[in-house]
Formats: sequence, C-alpha cells, structure tokens
Amino acid sequence: MRFETMAVRAGRGPVDDDHRERGEPHVPGIDLSTTYGFRTSSAVADSMDALLEGDFEAPNAVYARLHNPTVARFEEALAGLEGAEGAVAFATGMAAITAVLMAAGAPAEGVRRPHVVAVRPVYGGTDHLLTSGLIGSEVVWVAPDEVGDAVRPDTGLVFLETPANPTLTMVDVRDVIRQVRTAEVMVGHDVPVAVDSTFATPVLQNPIALGADIVVHSATKFLGGHGDAMGGVVATSDRWARLLRQIRMVTGGILHPLAGYLLHRGLQTLPLRVRAQQENARSLAQKLSEHPAVLSVHYPGLSGDAEEQRLLATQQRGPGSILAFRVRGGAEAARKVVESLDLITRAVSLGSVDSLIQAPALLTHRVVDEQDRESSGVPADLLRLSVGLESAADLWADLDRALSRTLDVEATHRVEPLVSLAL
Ligand SMILES: *Cc1c(COP(=O)(O)O)cnc(C)c1O
Repeated sequence: MRFETMAVRAGRGPVDDDHRERGEPHVPGIDLSTTYGFRTSSAVADSMDALLEGDFEAPNAVYARLHNPTVARFEEALAGLEGAEGAVAFATGMAAITAVLMAAGAPAEGVRRPHVVAVRPVYGGTDHLLTSGLIGSEVVWVAPDEVGDAVRPDTGLVFLETPANPTLTMVDVRDVIRQVRTAEVMVGHDVPVAVDSTFATPVLQNPIALGADIVVHSATKFLGGHGDAMGGVVATSDRWARLLRQIRMVTGGILHPLAGYLLHRGLQTLPLRVRAQQENARSLAQKLSEHPAVLSVHYPGLSGDAEEQRLLATQQRGPGSILAFRVRGGAEAARKVVESLDLITRAVSLGSVDSLIQAPALLTHRVVDEQDRESSGVPADLLRLSVGLESAADLWADLDRALSRTLDVEATHRVEPLVSLAL
C-alpha cells in the first residue's frame, strides 16, 4: 500500500476472520472495556503471559492497561506510516518520551541511570524532563556534530528533534546515526537514537528510514489534528516496542481508547491536512520575511542556506506548516503583535486545523533556563506560528494588520525624540 492508502485504510481490518452474517462494520467500534471475560483460566493466563512479555496482542486482551483493541488499531496504522516494525501509544507525548527514557535505562539494557546525549532545542517539556533528572537520568546537551564524541560507556540514549520546536532547526539524522554507530563500537553496546518527529509527521519524514531506532510523536498535534485528543506514540523495532509495552503496563501511561479512536481517524486526513497547511505556511513565511516589522523568519529552506536546502531535499519531503519569526522591537513588540490578532488563536499546542500562535519563551519553553533558551535560539521576541487550514489570505490579513500596528507604534516613538531634539 502506498502512503495515502495506508493513511486511510491501515488498522481497519475486520474484527475477526469469520465473515459476520450482519456485515462487518464500516468503521471499527470503540472498545471501552476495562476488563475481558474468559472461559478457561489457563487460556487467559497464557494471554496474560504473552502481554506481560510485550506481545502486541493476545487471544484475550485481559485488562485495558495491558491491551486495548481500539488503541492497537491506531498503533498498527502509525507503525505502517512510519515504516516501523511496531508502535506503542501513550496517554501523551510526554508519557511516550518518559517511557523511552525508562526503556533506555532498563536493566536489560545494562544501564540503570541512563546518560542521555541530546541536541537543543527540543520541546520545553522534554528539555525539562532531561535537564531536571526528575526520573533519574543525566543529560549532556551538545551540537549535532558533537554527538558521537559525547557518547560514554553509560550512555543509554541519543535524543533529538527535527525540525526542532520552536526554531525549526533541522538536524542531519543520517550524520548523527553515523557518529553514534562509530561510538557504539568504542563503548561496546548499542546506543539507540530517538528522533521526535512531531513537527514533520510521517507525511514529511520517516526517521527509521534514515537509520533512527526510535521515532516519537506527540499525537496531540498533527496526528489528531483537531485539538481534541491527547496522545503520544513511539514507532520502533519489535525489540524496543516489546520493552516499551512492558514499561507502559507497569507505569500505566496508556492511551485512552476514545483518544485512540480520534487519533486513528485523524490519520485518514493527515496527508491532506499536512500538505494543505504546508502550502499556507509557505505563503505566510514568504510574506512575513518581506514585512518591515519582522526581524527574521525561521522556516525550513526559506533562508536559502545550502546545508538547510540539502537537508530539506534529502531528509524531508517538505518544510511543514510551523514557522517562527522574530518581531522588530523586542519581546514587548512581539507581545503586542500576538495580542492584536483577531483570527489566529493565541494558544500553545500546534498541528491543529486552526492556526495557533504563542511566544515559546513565555509559554512552551518557559520551563527552560533563560540562558539555555537564548543559546539555543529561543529569544523572548520569537513567536511560533502553527499554520492551519484557514484561507491564507485571511491569515495574512490578520498578521499584516497586527504587525503593521506595531510599526505605527514604533514610528510614533521614533518621531518624538527627533521633535524634542529640534526643540
Ligand atoms: C507537544 C510536544 C511534545 C509533548 O507532547 P504532549 O502530547 O503535549 O505531551 C513533545 N514533543 C514535541 C515536539 C511537541 O511539540
């Protein structure tokens, strides 16, 4: 199946192989059961053993923390779209990332307190999880070309985001993999590379095909796409998926089946949404870069930088629909622009059918130390815009009006000192 076909059809197979007399439902039902009845104890015990070992499914689902058929359909579809052996869904993106961190430090991997090598910037919550060591890990933040050198004998994970939240910085995944595979020989064990691919979605990028071991998505964003379901999902090898299922079982960060249903449905329109939102973003990024009130625009490929162009051509299938820009006049001017918007929603989150804007330094990356924010390209005057499906003309009219208003304010300020000087 090609990508678009898989998006619409994957994970939608019949409930059972026996043809039902009354017809197979066109849309799979939502299974809300928390527990599953059994006939013989030995059969259900076998199912429980299989699930405890991390099997994707078993004849009896046993208990909803161990398996849910609705969630499993979403996982099957997402694994297909990422070209992964398996996928494991969680309650949120952060629950998924936490499970990956725990898996990297699981005793089976030979390390208990995983040392993580990570590349900034990443989503503020992820940055905080890694920096705070809240769940007992240790992190070193390095530039993309220093990853290999930073790998130590106790390193359990390499983590990066591309394109990164909120600067849209792209990291060369193949190059990082090459460094890590060399470092693995030195340290004598596997070091999995995890890529948070939330911004790209499987429509624009498949990190597994680039050599990554683990792909993470905040499904809350593009996969659901309508701002009404939270979730996280990890696409990976069978080996990692089994371990992640075991961790999900004991920590309980499962995806609720109602959200699983919505996320699975979201996948059906994912390619269309991502491409249409991308067209809007392309047009806005260009217009913003020409606006006198805008200092700079971050959007993959826009700057004409040769390395960025190369990555865009070899690693991604398009720049996506998130952009960031800095407003002339600093944080205060940026705040005014945000507060002057009438159409675009002032809110955190992204990837929804409607456009959302926020200042990362104030909100999504607030938890990151100010110095670390500044040094990773997240100044106070940076605004992140997630471009939706509205008319690009309406979006631009809204932005242009809000931006031009700050110019008017600036112009008034500029006149005053000149006048006083003349006097
Ligand atoms: C939002 C986000 C997350 C966290 O996902 P939640 O579903 O909010 O827990 C992780 N990574 C990226 C890139 C995000 O944008």
